[in-house]
Amino acid sequence: MLCPACGSKDLRVLDSRPMLESNQIKRRRQCSDCEFRFSTIEIVDAGMPKIVKRSGSLAEFDVRKVRSGIMRAVEKRPLTMGQLENLIERIVQKINKMQVKHLRSEQVGYIIMEEMKDVDLVSMIRFASVYHAFQDAESFKVFIDNLVSSSEMN
Ligand SMILES: [Zn+2]
Repeated sequence: MLCPACGSKDLRVLDSRPMLESNQIKRRRQCSDCEFRFSTIEIVDAGMPKIVKRSGSLAEFDVRKVRSGIMRAVEKRPLTMGQLENLIERIVQKINKMQVKHLRSEQVGYIIMEEMKDVDLVSMIRFASVYHAFQDAESFKVFIDNLVSSSEMN
């Protein structure tokens, strides 16, 4: 972090105040070079959640698994590497923003599908079938209906 007034790196913390319930810490800082005072707000990052597998066991979140699942679904689809990298980035950010300790693997699947449907609907449907994301045809239909009604609202 640099002083917003003079660009110096030599900063002192005058005061730290945790803001309860918002995961934020407000700090009053002063530049040692030009004496300029300013406030910063830091957001505590809980990191990525542990993944609760269908068996009930826990696994570390692994972006390589997300990537390989997506790659399998988009095979031979007209998508660029750039689109895929952006897609993976959005998925990771969405999961990170949830700031939860645990996430079920099905929920990860839903998040992937939600993001995929905006990029390529065919890939999303393939992803759903490869990973048996739905118990039966009816729950798949409900999911698709929800997607359609949510994109109509936008
Ligand atoms: Zn300064």
